[in-house]
Amino acid sequence: ELDEYFKKLKADFPIFSERPDLVYLDNAATTQKPSAVIEKLRHFYVTANANVHRAVYRLAEESTALYEESRKTVADFIGTAPEEIIFTRGTTESLNLLAYSLGLSGKYKSFIVPLFEHHSNFVPWQQIAHTLGLKFYPVKIHGGELFLEDVEAIVKSCEKPFVFSMTGLTNSLGYRAPFEAVAKLVHSAGGIFVLDAAQLIPHEAFDFAASDIDFLAFSGHKILGPTGIGVLAGKKELLEQIRPFQYGGEMIDKVGEQDTTFAPVPYKFEAGTPNIAGAAGLAEALKYVKNISYEKISKHIENLTKNAIEKLSVIPGLTLYCQKNCHGIISFSHENIHPHDLAELLSRLSGVAVRSGHHCSQQQLKVLGVSSLCRASFYLYNTHNDIDKLVAGIQDALRWFS
Ligand code: PMP
Repeated sequence: ELDEYFKKLKADFPIFSERPDLVYLDNAATTQKPSAVIEKLRHFYVTANANVHRAVYRLAEESTALYEESRKTVADFIGTAPEEIIFTRGTTESLNLLAYSLGLSGKYKSFIVPLFEHHSNFVPWQQIAHTLGLKFYPVKIHGGELFLEDVEAIVKSCEKPFVFSMTGLTNSLGYRAPFEAVAKLVHSAGGIFVLDAAQLIPHEAFDFAASDIDFLAFSGHKILGPTGIGVLAGKKELLEQIRPFQYGGEMIDKVGEQDTTFAPVPYKFEAGTPNIAGAAGLAEALKYVKNISYEKISKHIENLTKNAIEKLSVIPGLTLYCQKNCHGIISFSHENIHPHDLAELLSRLSGVAVRSGHHCSQQQLKVLGVSSLCRASFYLYNTHNDIDKLVAGIQDALRWFS
């Protein structure tokens, strides 16, 4: 069955043979890398390393071709055209780019963001709105959920035109947000809709062209790719309208003493030497995911989540903060032990890696009335045995602590 299939697949990830005792449950922070991705990085540096888009010699042509092929792979993966794909350093940079570029375009009067967002989809909009004198509206949440009536009220009353940015899956609680319905509300009120897909893309298939979304951001490292590479996808006509974010080499057309014109999209947004190896590594990671299929991955993560909720919810004194529609991420705390102590004991006594803290979402934790939580998050190489080790690890930690 599915668990057996994914158990075998674990062998593709060399960190697990290097560290056989590791139970890695911090996948919402970053994922481990399969050999295919590691080998792709090595292969690039060993056989094809040269800067892109600059030189006419053969090596540079090959490295440019590899970089552009990687862009095409990413575009095919999320159902868009290559010129609508911008390579960035990660979700954080993609969202900063958007907040600056949409803000500086002078077209928008307000930014709207739900309170459960990761800081990287909250603080850029908040700070740039304040810097440029735009309105900033946080949307209230209920526990960990967003209600459509709150969205409706705010998009009706806000200053227009506006930008609404939200996540597809919260990193703090694993709440699968109703972003499709929100995007519809935003568009019917004439707004621009941005999706932070950092947690969604690793778990769920996505079709940009068929969606009601204007911009989408995600990170390579959360979907088996390298760190330092991420994606901003955007509708071409919108990308053409907005200002560049960074200035420098690669992104210009003609530079005059006083004025400069810029390269066409996507190059207008890729100043300087890009992460060429990272782009190739990300493309390899996406091929790996596609090969397994989202259908299998989503089902497996769903099974793991269900099993974990069942087993964790019978531990006395343990509170689970997950919602009924949480996916792959479970946050919890125990009445007798601080989340940091619990996470440390889980690691020390049982080799289980979970996250503790505010999960870069202080406003979300404030709404829950807590300052810190433990978080276990799953990805495709996790097994039901890992869940058993987490449960046993919590019980051992509680015994040790008392
Ligand atoms: N948004 C969400 C929902 C996230 O989970 C994360 C990473 N934890 C980010 C944005 C930021 O991603 P990165 O650190 O890769 O830029």
